[in-house]
Amino acid sequence: MSAPVTVSVDCPAKTNLTLEVGPSHAEWGGRHELDTIYCAIGLTDTVTATAKPAGAGFSLDLAGEHLGDLASSSSDMRRNHAVLALFAMAEAAGREPDVALTIEKRIPVGAGLAGGSADAAATILALNALWELDWPLDRLREVAATLGADMPFCVAGGYARGTGYGEIIETIPDDSDAARALREQGYAGSLLVGAYQAQLSTPEVYGEFDVVGAGDGDRNHLQKAAVSLHPRSGAAIREALAAGASHAFVSGSGPSVVAFTPTPDIRRDVIAAWERSKAVDRIIAAEAPAAPSVSVTVAR
Ligand code: ATP
Repeated sequence: MSAPVTVSVDCPAKTNLTLEVGPSHAEWGGRHELDTIYCAIGLTDTVTATAKPAGAGFSLDLAGEHLGDLASSSSDMRRNHAVLALFAMAEAAGREPDVALTIEKRIPVGAGLAGGSADAAATILALNALWELDWPLDRLREVAATLGADMPFCVAGGYARGTGYGEIIETIPDDSDAARALREQGYAGSLLVGAYQAQLSTPEVYGEFDVVGAGDGDRNHLQKAAVSLHPRSGAAIREALAAGASHAFVSGSGPSVVAFTPTPDIRRDVIAAWERSKAVDRIIAAEAPAAPSVSVTVAR
């Protein structure tokens, strides 16, 4: 068989169906202990990895209308999560990072949707195929865990429980009772993402959490802090619930809002409410749960 020359991976964003924040630990660099149910949502970035000649080094091209702070000329390409994933995989595989990466960004940046982690996970999956490593999921997750808390989850998507600081992943298989229960509670199917131009930095939201704590009954312990920093997210949640959404909440550390819309009528009513009030800047429709998909082009 010919070797692959180009591998493209569509990698979903994530949200957190529950997010319990525990104490922070000095030995984890001040990170908090988490217990979370991750859910991948079918709003994807596409990462394409193409082999370059030996010694050519790497390149990175970004495309998309909403690049947030990634678009600024001051943002350093070497700090892009996809490039960090390329270096980590090159080191783990004993290869040179002679690869051209392109990222077609659709996941809003700095939005609590783990777009950067999705790009890193997509890069790991792409290189696993491009370099014909054929590593199992656990090994890919080990590389991902060196890069960030959400990244091991993003490598496989679906539903999963995350503990530690979010990096210890227990998959919730589709046919398990736990997955059935999540579907029955309405955490599946059509949803709307309410997205913003504004970004929130995760450390800033944890800083606010240390001041305001978790809201009563909030399944996402960071919601009160995110809404305190970005009140429009709170308005969008109230409006989505009033329009019939089965669940509406801040995604991770925000500011994006996710609203599950069990029927086409409810979906239409949530869109109408958000458009009328301008509580969000952009509305994106997606489905959950979702999983990454890998497509390989071989030399002919
Ligand atoms: P977190 O994963 O911490 O919850 P988030 O989901 O809120 O973060 P991301 O979109 O992952 O947000 O971006 C967080 C920061 O990471 C951005 O400010 C951006 O500068 C940086 N970053 C680096 N590489 C990427 C990338 N490929 N895509 C998005 N952001 C990236």
